[in-house]
Amino acid sequence: MVLVVIDGMRSDAFEQAASSGRAPALQFLRDRGSYVRDSVAIFPTITPAATSTLVTGEVPARHGIPGMCWYDRDHQRFVNYGQSRGVAMAEGLGQVVEDFLVYLNHEHLSGDVRTIHEQLHELGLSSGATNFMVFRGPFEHRLEPGLMERLLFRKHLPRTVRGPKEHYFADVVRGPADAGGRRKRGRGLERHTRHNDKWAAEVTRDLLEQGAADMILFYLHENDHVSHHGGPVTQVDNLVRADEHIGSVLDTFGTWERTLHEAGFVLTADHGQTAIGDDAEHVIEFGEVLADFRRVKPGPGPDPLEDHDLAVCGNGRAARVHVRGGQRSGPRGVRAGRRGPRGGGRAPQPLAPPGRPPGHRRHRRGRDGPHPRVPAGPVADPVGHGPRPDR
Ligand SMILES: [Zn+2]
Repeated sequence: MVLVVIDGMRSDAFEQAASSGRAPALQFLRDRGSYVRDSVAIFPTITPAATSTLVTGEVPARHGIPGMCWYDRDHQRFVNYGQSRGVAMAEGLGQVVEDFLVYLNHEHLSGDVRTIHEQLHELGLSSGATNFMVFRGPFEHRLEPGLMERLLFRKHLPRTVRGPKEHYFADVVRGPADAGGRRKRGRGLERHTRHNDKWAAEVTRDLLEQGAADMILFYLHENDHVSHHGGPVTQVDNLVRADEHIGSVLDTFGTWERTLHEAGFVLTADHGQTAIGDDAEHVIEFGEVLADFRRVKPGPGPDPLEDHDLAVCGNGRAARVHVRGGQRSGPRGVRAGRRGPRGGGRAPQPLAPPGRPPGHRRHRRGRDGPHPRVPAGPVADPVGHGPRPDR
């Protein structure tokens, strides 16, 4: 089975692309499959949180990955899985790589949840993944960094990571089937083009051809990046490109019909993208709103929250505000907000500091860590789901 995940694809973008005549693979899969239109993304709709939900079936409060950037109280520092170039410069590129390659999968992702790879393994089935950032699985893989990675990331690169049997990640991890290995291995920058959809498609196709895994997670991440850059209006063009890669996987056994006979396909997305206005009504300037509070400034090494009021983590269309622990009402003045956001909207409500219960263990972070329990409220999405962090 091939689980195709297109990052940031909304249902309406999928429909437009599939009926445009320019995305024959999407159209083929839609025509031959069953289509669930009203799928709902988790909150926040940020890739690491949403992809963790896809492979664990759990909400962020349980799986422990709250977004792209958050504040780790245990280690008194900002965690960043790759939010922006600016943050990478402040924290150090090596730290970002380590957060994402090591900590996300092996520490932050709660030990209380099972990934799809772990669950399939328990059922006696094998699995694979291409470039997917949440990959924890039962098989240990040695990292094979090139000279460039070693120079850039030095001590931050682990020796091994635990993933599915056929785990492929850019240039640094590959599975026993050596899928995609026939492609001529370039040098220098050419090597670093492997973290892309084309290569993911080649690996998926190879794995299918070899029958190397019962389930292959084929991840196409480029749609999300291009949509962030060009806005959601570019989605159909982006999906046409993704469609070519899916088409090349459907070519595996000669004809698309034959490939569909040999393998089942599931196509989904982690969340969608919507346009956000740049006027005052749509933008909260945290720098202004929180100007009166002492905020922790990120930098290399620990960023202690002691002697400060807040740690603020931008996450694109969402933000996390971590209040110094110990008092549930937060530091003085925070709850009411001293100034409203630009444009006179409501001041952002602070998140209650979760504190750290006695006997707190790191692997229980998903329940007791940085993810406050939000009481159920009147807010609900079109299918009637409200915030449900703690089922
Ligand atoms: Zn995403």
